Amino acid sequence: MPFVEGLRCRECGRAYPAEALHVCEWCFGPLEVVYDYEAIAGSISRQSVAAGPNTIWRYADLLPAGAEGAVDLGAGLTPLLRADRLGAELGLSELWLKNDTVNPTGSFKDRVVSVALTRARELGFKVAACASTGNLANSVAAHAARAGMRSVVCIPADLEIAKVVTTGVFGGCLVALTGNYDEVNRLCAELASEYPTWAFVNVNVRSYYAEGSKTLAFEVAEQLGWRAPDHVVVPVASGSQLTKVAKGFRELYKVGLLDEEPHVRISGAQARGCAPVAEAFESGGDFVRPVKPSGIAKSLAIGNPADGGYALEEVRRSGGAVGAVTDAEIVEGIRLLARTEGIFAETAGGVTVGVLAKLAAAGVVKVNERVVAFITGNGLKTLDAVASGCHPTATVAPSLEAFQAAVNVADWQ
Ligand SMILES: *Cc1c(COP(=O)(O)O)cnc(C)c1O
Ligand SMILES: [Zn+2]
Repeated sequence: MPFVEGLRCRECGRAYPAEALHVCEWCFGPLEVVYDYEAIAGSISRQSVAAGPNTIWRYADLLPAGAEGAVDLGAGLTPLLRADRLGAELGLSELWLKNDTVNPTGSFKDRVVSVALTRARELGFKVAACASTGNLANSVAAHAARAGMRSVVCIPADLEIAKVVTTGVFGGCLVALTGNYDEVNRLCAELASEYPTWAFVNVNVRSYYAEGSKTLAFEVAEQLGWRAPDHVVVPVASGSQLTKVAKGFRELYKVGLLDEEPHVRISGAQARGCAPVAEAFESGGDFVRPVKPSGIAKSLAIGNPADGGYALEEVRRSGGAVGAVTDAEIVEGIRLLARTEGIFAETAGGVTVGVLAKLAAAGVVKVNERVVAFITGNGLKTLDAVASGCHPTATVAPSLEAFQAAVNVADWQ
């Protein structure tokens, strides 16, 4: 990682070496990776990116770990699809979908985990660990298997069965805890100090982990022909993805990959059952008051979001909004996306589409904006959310008569 200068406290600006540190010992602020952008600008070009691998590692110059030793299952460079049918339903003239449901373990988390574990290995960690709302568990277990590392994954015991199975299959240590995510996270912070040789991707190597989310912004700009969108809609759990997507667009300009300084409006999407950032936005305050999560969007169920305040800041500074939708609206969002664009998303995707619909109806997302919505997780992991509404049109004997009696296709021609 030739371009990393070190870490810096987001709050007080103190500098630290690029080691396994994540909070400022002075003010307890989070540490962020600092790069030498001038040097990156001298090395990176649209051509060099295009010549790179078809994964997040084509952006290695802007990541805090070396591509040579990458723990890589192929995360990233997911399709950016023009969504005219969904756009028409929502009254938007240029809508795009970043389809992260097709990542190796079915969610955007593969981006952050690939970066975190690559850096963790460079720092000498032997064990991969995390506190997870589900998708992170899948991804850490899979990438640890790929890297030949032991894994210790902690999840809330009430997680969707699909997320338990798709984690357990990789053979690591999977511990279900009888508490919500925020309690799981608290235990993991304790474990991280008890076992300093374990790399908790979203705790003690979080500074590196978070950088992986920037690749969403990088890819979107590249896939739009090196143009930034006008508005992006990002699901919010801890707020890390939203914060780093905003940072990613700024970095592209700093290193010369975008000709013009981008002004991307950033909007956030939460579920009503866990909407601390949306509630802070609605109240007009700066303080993100922790909540007790409920509802079907378990992958976004972080009641006390570590980067909630920073996410709020990015949204307000860019002229975006944070919206929230009910469980019923989440299901509607999943089905609308599936019916109009052929993408089956998990509940977090329903949250994004549902909030996008609301913001479009309210005129916050504007008709003529170039809009990108991030669809971050695969619907196969949250089948229960839509199972009760998705049945065969008919169940009949395998004969022409029975088919024709049950299904009215007369007006299809
Ligand atoms: C984790 C997750 C997010 C967002 O996470 P942040 O903690 O806000 O970075 C979004 N969508 C899905 C499907 C996730 O699993
Ligand atoms: Zn500090």
